[in-house]
Amino acid sequence: MPVRQIRYCSRCVMPETKPDLYIDADGVCNACHSYQRRAIVDWDARRRELTAILERYRSHDGSNYDCVVPVSGGKDSTFQTLKMLELGMRPLCVNGATDKLSDIGRRNIENLKRHGVDFVEVTMNPVVRRRINRLALRQIGDISWPEHVAIFTIPVRIAAQFGVPLIIWGENSQNEYGGPAAAAESPVLTRRWLEEFGGLLGLRVADMAGQEGTECGDLIQYTYPSDEQLAGVGVTGLFLGHYLPWDGYANALYAQAHGFETFAKTVEGSLVNYENLDNVQTGIHDYFKFLKYGFGRATDLACMHIRRDRLSRAEALALVKIHDGRFPWTYLGYPIQEVLDEIDMELDEFIRICDRFTNKKLFHCDARGNLIKDRRGNLTKVNHDNVPAGEPVLEECIR
Ligand SMILES: [Zn+2]
Repeated sequence: MPVRQIRYCSRCVMPETKPDLYIDADGVCNACHSYQRRAIVDWDARRRELTAILERYRSHDGSNYDCVVPVSGGKDSTFQTLKMLELGMRPLCVNGATDKLSDIGRRNIENLKRHGVDFVEVTMNPVVRRRINRLALRQIGDISWPEHVAIFTIPVRIAAQFGVPLIIWGENSQNEYGGPAAAAESPVLTRRWLEEFGGLLGLRVADMAGQEGTECGDLIQYTYPSDEQLAGVGVTGLFLGHYLPWDGYANALYAQAHGFETFAKTVEGSLVNYENLDNVQTGIHDYFKFLKYGFGRATDLACMHIRRDRLSRAEALALVKIHDGRFPWTYLGYPIQEVLDEIDMELDEFIRICDRFTNKKLFHCDARGNLIKDRRGNLTKVNHDNVPAGEPVLEECIR
């Protein structure tokens, strides 16, 4: 029986297995089409629109902050903050503490503060956090689920509590990475956008209550404010990437020129050294994306650089083959055991969870249907690129 091949976008290298990605009859994905549409955007008009919005929301008597900027201390949030300062805004930077902050992540947060901003760091109960990390890894194969909830809920909660109506988010991930057109073109981040695209993977915050002794009161920071609370302040969130042509690499250069520190070498599983430097658990998060959908962070980056003509498709493909989806023995140099110890999980169980969440249609298996791994635990995808028309599709799964 022939193995079904993974289909890829013919322009970038994204596989059709990515959720919310659609490849059209010409073989081109919706993320590539979204990017193409940027060429016809009148960016000067968008910038004027942004200035007008900022003017409308600014605290005119100076008694409050002009906006909230959610920050991790990474390249994008450093860029967002610097832009707001340049535009004469007084931002309140809000950071939801990451699951396991790296040393370089801490230094980049301190660098951001030195640019002259008030800064709130919200640290959630680490005992509860680690329990949720473990539950989410076991139940939906995503150790970073609580982080992905909290990076959205905390800035909104703080905005409501401080009475600041405007939140400046970065890019709209549905535009850069592919998603339904209405969501991809949206300039604002709403509760509906969060619930659909914020990475909840069908697991609601309320589902955590009652599990392993977790109480509702443990989940306060993971809970979005009520509609009444938001309406009272008039909180709205906009994507800066809708108003300025967004480019992660350019943001990194800009942030670096303002003291942002990059990693000394290419980050494990990535193609670059300038992003995702704050959370040591990210290596595990990205690896599960690879197991479930057959692509990792290296593919994301390759696609972004192909669209901007910084890599050819062939060059990108070669790099992705080397870097994508390696078993995450280390991340930012931290051994995986350190991460697992903190959530009280043995490596054996971790590997069993990996196997349970692996989509076996995407990887080579033996005759009995078991995943084939090399001595470092790495899998091999059934195909890394489209099979040219007319070439036989080989029985690759049985060796
Ligand atoms: Zn594409």
